[in-house]
Amino acid sequence: MTEAAPTGSGPEHTRIEPILTVRNASMVYAGGVKALDDVSLTVGSGELLAIVGPSGSGKSTLLNIMGTLDRPTDGVVEIGGRDVTVFSDRRLSALRGRLLGFVFQQFHLTEGLTAAENVATGLLYAGVVRRRRRPLALEALARVGLAHRAEHLPCRLSGGEKQRVAIARALVHNPALVLADEPTGALDSANGRAVLDLLTTLNREGATIAVITHDTDIAASLPRRVEIRDGRLVADTREGSPS
Ligand code: ADP
Repeated sequence: MTEAAPTGSGPEHTRIEPILTVRNASMVYAGGVKALDDVSLTVGSGELLAIVGPSGSGKSTLLNIMGTLDRPTDGVVEIGGRDVTVFSDRRLSALRGRLLGFVFQQFHLTEGLTAAENVATGLLYAGVVRRRRRPLALEALARVGLAHRAEHLPCRLSGGEKQRVAIARALVHNPALVLADEPTGALDSANGRAVLDLLTTLNREGATIAVITHDTDIAASLPRRVEIRDGRLVADTREGSPS
């Protein structure tokens, strides 16, 4: 399959630098389940996109491939123009530490660490010297509006605050791309909305963010929507274009 041309893509989209390209990726799991079937997708610098599809459509599989956590059985994943499917595990984890940030549905904060310490863990594999980690963590907490919660343990934070800490951790090393897997899935609708608003603001400030979601309303609120069905990319639409 050739890459679905995003409808409505104007000159402003043709100039953007590709951060990550998935080319003709397929994934067949042991037992023969074809979770991804010839998917091609490019994420450009400064984009905010939803990868949307029903449960079982292949979103997590695609996320794992984009995040270099899994290699596709076929196809290529390029980050910064280099095919990373041939990288060793060690090189991949170094690349993740520098270039990617992850946000998960269940936050995955470390209970015994304060908010600032949790955020600083995002710098452990980014080659940042120890004395720079705390100031950068405090800056990232300020960006998500949580400077006043820096010394709180996760158990003293609300779900929405926990997710904002997790977003600060994902952003603290200025990654090229943030991958957010159902980031509002564990939140009530008001906190979910606030987290989406925050991701939108961070995107306006320059972050490139892919949100994986089964929720079509969330997808509809983002500027670009990549739709997955039965492992295939079936639509790629941008704001203002007919879906
Ligand atoms: P989604 O994230 O959209 O719910 P997944 O990527 O988790 O979809 O799954 C896509 C398909 O691949 C499903 O049929 C699922 O059962 C199957 N699958 C996912 N992970 C594995 C695995 N590790 N082994 C075998 N089958 C899997």
